[in-house]
Amino acid sequence: MKAPAQRMSTIPPYLFARIEQKIAEAKEAGIDIISLGIGDPDRPTPEFIIEEMTKQLHNAENHQYPSSVGMLCFRNAVADWYKDRYGVLINGKSDVCALIGSKEGIANIHYCYVDPGDIVLVPDPSYPVYATATMLAGGQPYYMPLEAENGFLPVFEDIPEEICRRAKMMWLNYPNNPTGAICDLEFMKKAVAFAKKYDILLCHDAAYSEMTYDGYVPPSILQIEGAQEIAVEFNSCSKPFNMTGWRIAFAAGNAEVVSTLARYKSNVDSGAFQAVQYAAMAGLKQPWQTVKAMQKVYEGRRNILVGGLNEIGWNLSMPKATFYIWAPVPKGYTSASFAEKVLEDAGVIITPGNGYGAAGEGYFRATLTLDEDRMQEAVVRLKKVLGKVEF
Ligand code: PLP
Repeated sequence: MKAPAQRMSTIPPYLFARIEQKIAEAKEAGIDIISLGIGDPDRPTPEFIIEEMTKQLHNAENHQYPSSVGMLCFRNAVADWYKDRYGVLINGKSDVCALIGSKEGIANIHYCYVDPGDIVLVPDPSYPVYATATMLAGGQPYYMPLEAENGFLPVFEDIPEEICRRAKMMWLNYPNNPTGAICDLEFMKKAVAFAKKYDILLCHDAAYSEMTYDGYVPPSILQIEGAQEIAVEFNSCSKPFNMTGWRIAFAAGNAEVVSTLARYKSNVDSGAFQAVQYAAMAGLKQPWQTVKAMQKVYEGRRNILVGGLNEIGWNLSMPKATFYIWAPVPKGYTSASFAEKVLEDAGVIITPGNGYGAAGEGYFRATLTLDEDRMQEAVVRLKKVLGKVEF
């Protein structure tokens, strides 16, 4: 067998593939594993979405190839959602593209805009796809460190002028995976001004915009005046409606970027299943009670895990969004050695922070995707194994 293409050597195996393997090994050894590893909602898709899907499955028109860009009614539903949710006016026809999950669009946009040698500004730590897709397209990530003292926001002034001028794209993601950090409109304004100054395509990943607590409402990049000249926002039905397996999401923003992405997609995929688009529309059009109920569930779990970690010796504040807890590892550990310790001694899976980039070293990420009893059990086990921790 001939070797895979050179570009395959630039990327590691997907982070969670390794975690899944570890879980399988531990299960095989008969260990009761509590996984706080993967960010996948544990609750079912709401019944009214399943009902819409069932109805649409009986419509033979939905059995044929969909269009890559998505049905116009789906794109209009996204535009209506932007208007209701943010007061942002976009045109469903020209400014929205359906995606087969936002991961698909996030990966594919690099092939649309990154030539070999181009620079992409990537937060560190971050969702791994920004950097790996940059490298698959032949580009070069320039890592913008997200540090606690800056509220896990990149500092644009720290990026060398030469890099700013060469950068083709920039990724931002708020509410943030893995840090749980949020940003305000002022920061977004700065980001838009920076992107305009250097003619950089600003890609905002808003996958966690609905996973918020304590009444917090995050902004959209498209709320910023002039953002649509240089920005595209990715959002997804995966997290608000517990639809990760359904693969439905959307990109919205600059019409030229959206149509370039749609043109690329028309050559490599055939779009999201129409029945799934109708089902997602049911989610986007509902009055949001199910989303609010979901927020309450995660809020309860967050209080247990963060409260429990703080009793053990951490000093964490309650994240206002996402289902991630980002915390420093105790004194004497690296990210990897701490993750190994809690897996081996407590049967608890957490993700080592350096899996999200070098700046994540010294941290771990834990998710809130288990019910309150299991969350409590995780805290009890950690307490037993770690005693009182120091930093
Ligand atoms: N963006 C971020 C920051 C994520 O954490 C994830 C998934 O965990 C995604 C995008 C992809 O979501 P999906 O492809 O299910 O829309």
